[in-house]
Amino acid sequence: MTLTPLQELAKSLVNCERCKLATLGRSQVVFGVGNPHASIMFVGEAPGSNEDLKGEPFVGAAGKLLNDLLASAGLSRDQIYIANVIKCRPPNNRDPEQDEVETCKPFLLQQIRLIQPKLVCTLGNWATQTLLERKVGITKVKAQAFYMKDFVLFPLLHPAAALHQGNLLPTLKEDFKKLKEFLDKHTKPAEPTSTAPTAPVLNIESPQPAQMDLFG
Ligand code: URA
Repeated sequence: MTLTPLQELAKSLVNCERCKLATLGRSQVVFGVGNPHASIMFVGEAPGSNEDLKGEPFVGAAGKLLNDLLASAGLSRDQIYIANVIKCRPPNNRDPEQDEVETCKPFLLQQIRLIQPKLVCTLGNWATQTLLERKVGITKVKAQAFYMKDFVLFPLLHPAAALHQGNLLPTLKEDFKKLKEFLDKHTKPAEPTSTAPTAPVLNIESPQPAQMDLFG
């Protein structure tokens, strides 16, 4: 069977030993899941213990919350693609280290290049800073659209943050409402004759200079 380029990429990483996480207790590489033709991609930080065991991003408690938040924005997991910046579980759920991010980032960028999403929602500081290439706090940039060269970046708080700090949950829910508003504004209605698409088609406008000035 011929593999797609995305499947080839996943296969090439199955036994990855490019960074020390390969020797620090990971069970498997967690590449990413979802619709390979999705116009919306979500990017988290790194697999936790449940993800490490199952081989899929966001299958633990944060994943359950993410599913509810997605539903509130009118999205389901089979419409989107989900990956992490780091593909292997850091020991004891510690933060990723800089060398690990640098080693794994090219594979996230390749995933994005192959899937060609119109919108990339980053969950939390790590994913946001990695794709924005700026050390900026998530609370400053969340729930706003940043027009990048090839896609629109829409940072959101990480669902795990709301699990640890319950007072963040209303903000996270509010931010998913803003995501829904953005999607409603930018999603083309489905062609009446087309066979049911599994991913919303986004018609995103060209970069807005004011937004590009945000970082001066
Ligand atoms: N947190 C993440 O950032 N990614 C996962 O896959 C699970 C929890």
